[in-house]
Amino acid sequence: MGTMHVVRSLAFPVERMPAPLLGLLGEFRLIVNKSIRIALRGDIRSRFRLSKAAYAGLSAEHDVHKKYIPSAFEIALAVLKAYRRRARRGKETNVPYLRRLLLKAENQSYWVDRETGRLRIPIRGTEAVQLHLPLSDWHRSFLSDPSWGLGSLTVVPGKIILVLRKESPKACEPASAIALDTNEDSLDGLIASGREARLITIPLGRVRQVQATHFRRRRCLARKKAQDRGVARRLLEREGRRERNRVRQRLHRVTKSLVASAKDRRAAIVLENLTLHGAGGRSRRLNRRLSSWPRREIHRQIEYKAALAGVPIIKVNPAWTSKTCPVCGARRRDRVGKVFVCLMCDWEMDRQINAGLNILKSALASNEALARAVRSSPVPSAMMW
Ligand SMILES: [Zn+2]
Repeated sequence: MGTMHVVRSLAFPVERMPAPLLGLLGEFRLIVNKSIRIALRGDIRSRFRLSKAAYAGLSAEHDVHKKYIPSAFEIALAVLKAYRRRARRGKETNVPYLRRLLLKAENQSYWVDRETGRLRIPIRGTEAVQLHLPLSDWHRSFLSDPSWGLGSLTVVPGKIILVLRKESPKACEPASAIALDTNEDSLDGLIASGREARLITIPLGRVRQVQATHFRRRRCLARKKAQDRGVARRLLEREGRRERNRVRQRLHRVTKSLVASAKDRRAAIVLENLTLHGAGGRSRRLNRRLSSWPRREIHRQIEYKAALAGVPIIKVNPAWTSKTCPVCGARRRDRVGKVFVCLMCDWEMDRQINAGLNILKSALASNEALARAVRSSPVPSAMMW
């Protein structure tokens, strides 16, 4: 593993954007769209080649701060990459273009006072716009910490996003593992080190109840305001935001203590890889798992906090984790109830814990450092403890 960067995005609402800035967004979008066409025509995929083919022409045609042009190339190539992927799957035929007004500036192109939030964005030559970013205490907690470096600045109509970056400490060599299956209201699995393994269930702070309450409220709202679609939509959106904030807060408490305890034990955290694409022939359960917001949010929080704490994260393929027998390897192709029972060897275990066992097993098979630390096979010991 090389050095890792942790990234934090600070978003600032900006109600009135100065006209020269809005003009710059339009100009930038135009440069991106011209670059896309040039790259497409010349089958160009690298920044270096695009720069050679397009920089001189674009910088003559557009009177903007010159450093924005390479940023536009980067966005053009990203848009094209996504387009080519879709085209390969036969999903896309239209020539791609950037619809959204946008400016992306690298950290050497803008200037910000980290104490006051004063921001200077060059337009062209010596011309620039000045803005005041409305700093909250939360923003200040990052900006006043010099270990967070400035990354890129993104401007869209009504909003400015400032990215901060920090180099995370090198992940430690794991001495143990915490393998977890991510479920609707708990994380389940085991802690294993040396020859010991202990089953654990970490409740998610009644997140499911919060979601159920909000679900009822939303349904009620939709029924009451059925005549007025606009009002209903606004109220529903507000309910949705409240729900996500409440869930997020509860998850923060859980993920914080999980990562702290992993750090104390010098444990790697093993999770399912929920971003796996193209696995093909997925079960309904797996698709639901991959698309559920709280699950992705739990993983996002764990990964982010682990990177800052130097706790290694190992991701394993989630296919079959709940349907495989960790003892003999046999798979059940039918529906598994609350308890997993192996038809071949009679192994019996709570379904969620069983998935945790399989997750650990996959991690041990793919990670030598972890296999050295956790020497015994987790299954027989888990059975005895
Ligand atoms: Zn079995």
